[in-house]
Amino acid sequence: MSFASLGLSAEIVRAVTERGYTEPTPIQAQAIPVILKGGDLMGGAQTGTGKTAGFTLPLLQRLADKQVVGKGHIRALVLTPTRELAAQVEESVRMYGKHLPLKSMMMFGGVNINPQIKQLHGRVDILVATPGRLLDHLQQKTVDLSHVEILVLDEADRMLDMGFIRDIKRVIAVLPKKRQNLLFSATFSDEIKLLADGLLTNPALIEVARRNQTAELIEQRVYPVDRERKRELLTHLIKENNWFQVLVFTRTKHGANNLADHLNKNDIPAMAIHGNKSQAARTRALAEFKTAKLQVLVATDIAARGIDISELPHVVNYELPNVAEDYVHRIGRTGRAGSSGEASSLVCIDEKKLLNDIERLIKRDIPVTNVPGFDVDPRIKAEPILNGSNRGQGAPRQGQGRGQPRTGGTGGAGRTGGAPRTGGGKPAGAPKPAGAGRGAVPSGAQHRSGGRGR
Ligand code: AMP
Repeated sequence: MSFASLGLSAEIVRAVTERGYTEPTPIQAQAIPVILKGGDLMGGAQTGTGKTAGFTLPLLQRLADKQVVGKGHIRALVLTPTRELAAQVEESVRMYGKHLPLKSMMMFGGVNINPQIKQLHGRVDILVATPGRLLDHLQQKTVDLSHVEILVLDEADRMLDMGFIRDIKRVIAVLPKKRQNLLFSATFSDEIKLLADGLLTNPALIEVARRNQTAELIEQRVYPVDRERKRELLTHLIKENNWFQVLVFTRTKHGANNLADHLNKNDIPAMAIHGNKSQAARTRALAEFKTAKLQVLVATDIAARGIDISELPHVVNYELPNVAEDYVHRIGRTGRAGSSGEASSLVCIDEKKLLNDIERLIKRDIPVTNVPGFDVDPRIKAEPILNGSNRGQGAPRQGQGRGQPRTGGTGGAGRTGGAPRTGGGKPAGAPKPAGAGRGAVPSGAQHRSGGRGR
């Protein structure tokens, strides 16, 4: 199947071809015709499926088909949970729309609002924004959304997890009633369904699995280790195996900072990326990591959400996530774009239950590798993991985990938004749209591949 056969115009097909895509991904093949016809859509797809082009290409075409003369108005609004995702989506809009006379803008908190106000005085056809900062503009009456024809909620489940529901509702309230609505979410909780019910009219339901499923291209490994020796083991693994471009997940910001410091002290160039860092620092860290100048990026789940780094060779779970679905999100950063990747998890005795939950979710056991010299001390007993990290990182035992309100940095201008969720994640076994699988659970994960499958 070709992009042209989906009904896309020559200008858009040209941009896509120049980007190097030869054929549409499954979500693109299904979503593009629906969106081109003007229908609402509920898409079950996560990062890595090609969903961004799936909504961006037809959105551009619909706007281009109906050109507006003069300065125009904002005609498409894309809401994303994080600044990084907003930047990436806007970059895609610019790239795919480069042969079209449309202008886009990204908008997020944590940076000076004045340049944004200035940009809004000029022409903006497509606005990609995080909810918090957009609301600031609405309150200051520096943005006019009264001509929006297409609304996209990208990673809607994450936006709800981050407490943005009230902000989103306030934004929707000022949009014209007649418009096209597209909602993308990796999972379908009751909350998402509720949002979708109020937002979408006769939506097409499309769900696809990740392009590279856990069992296919990602070699997963568990390294048992004592909680106090995790840093040492990570340093050893990186040096011993010559790992470059390693994305390491910690549970807390504090843990991320500590670990990055430790790695730097051991001559492994590392940076932490999380909501407390300035936008400039995060952008720089990401750029250096992408160009492979930086060997290790240490991130929390929220900071990493939406980061698009293709062909990332190594993802390390320095600590297992509290919510099993996050494991699938995390390791989905590796083995993308047809290349294989390694996902390594450093697991201490406290995390046994978390590991069991993950293995149940992905429906396979993850192979265990014992590293000589790092034998687990059987005398150490499991300790409960409180909201923060476990002691191995010297992090506080409480205070920054998922159970805490998620403040600042990840999306808006440092706001907490609505009531943040506690306990983390989506209700298990949430209802799903007809024909949909469970969003984050890869269907291909059911058969064991024993490593690099394809
Ligand atoms: P997304 O799910 O939108 O974050 O996209 C994941 C990755 O797939 C990005 O690096 C895209 O550049 C890439 N991609 C999107 N569409 C295609 C396609 N049709 N062929 C190959 N790669 C694609």
